Amino acid sequence: MTAAPLISNRAIDARDSDATLVVLLGPPGAGKGTQCERLARRLGLTHVSTGHALREEVRRGTRLGALAARYLDRGRLVPDALVVDAMTNAIARSGATSGVLLDGFPRTAPQARLLEDLDLGTVRLAVALILERLRSRGRADDQIDVLRTRLISYETDTRPLLDHYGRRGILVHVDGNRSADEVTATLAGHLVAAGVSPARSGPLLV
Ligand code: AMP
Repeated sequence: MTAAPLISNRAIDARDSDATLVVLLGPPGAGKGTQCERLARRLGLTHVSTGHALREEVRRGTRLGALAARYLDRGRLVPDALVVDAMTNAIARSGATSGVLLDGFPRTAPQARLLEDLDLGTVRLAVALILERLRSRGRADDQIDVLRTRLISYETDTRPLLDHYGRRGILVHVDGNRSADEVTATLAGHLVAAGVSPARSGPLLV
């Protein structure tokens, strides 16, 4: 089944792609965004962030953005139909020709199934960044509430995804409590091992 854009017919056609997709999973504060940026730069991959894609729709004043804004403001999960359209648009706009690092999507098991139906590419690797201690990044009290909501959402909605990718044999766990450089080096090793990025000779400069 190929899912049609559910909310708008603006979704640019990014389907029937044989792109290689990598899914980054981890609780808020695990450093997914930072790591994706580093990996994209160093390995020539495309980084597509769901939060960024949704905020871009808000900034552009699209109908999708207006509908998503009320969820974004509260740290609640945005309905799947909106997220799918925002991601389809963002991947198409990125003009990705190589591997795509998906930062923030899928976040739930139903979203993982939607991603498979969308034919945006094939998920070859899922990485779970594991944190022993949570980082609150010095947020104000009102932001702590948003963080708490997002943590609960991670535990209830996102954890089942680990089983989903574990069953497919493409899940790796990476300790996110180390320095950013060490985490990047480990992630890069997994990407190369999974054939997402060509092996580089010499040490990876991070
Ligand atoms: P992020 O930039 O990843 O921190 O995401 C910011 C916000 O975007 C989240 O708090 C959610 O409201 C929304 N969001 C991001 N990814 C998803 C997703 N996969 N499904 C639903 N909502 C999402």
